[in-house]
Amino acid sequence: MTDCIFCKIIRGEIPCAKVYEDDAVLAFDDIHPMAPVHVVIIPKTHVATLLDVDAKDATVGRLIAAAQDVARIKNVAAGGFRTVVNCNADGGQVVFHLHMHLLGGRKLEDQLG
Ligand code: AMP
Ligand code: ZN
Repeated sequence: MTDCIFCKIIRGEIPCAKVYEDDAVLAFDDIHPMAPVHVVIIPKTHVATLLDVDAKDATVGRLIAAAQDVARIKNVAAGGFRTVVNCNADGGQVVFHLHMHLLGGRKLEDQLG
């Protein structure tokens, strides 16, 4: 058992506004949205950061596939959206369970940070 906040969401111990779920991935609305659409997409297995992903396993592909579904579910696929994976302190990572942000619903700034 881990006290990781995203693992608690996966186990149903903390509620979330679910957007999409399959056997490998869960996606839910960010609690502090930075755009009209702001979804957090996470693998169901605990991986701390992007640097801990085994690039040969299916996790990254499953996250990308989920992002495609989330973009369509949230009606931002045609208009466009941004995906972001923060890594470690300078990258702004606060929750150490790998996650992809999907932002859209307005014209996003040109700069990334
Ligand atoms: P990061 O800075 O990349 O680690 O992003 C973590 C994100 O998780 C932030 O955008 C938070 O607003 C979001 N977050 C933290 N706790 C929750 C929660 N319980 N439900 C939904 N989003 C959350
Ligand atoms: Zn976790």
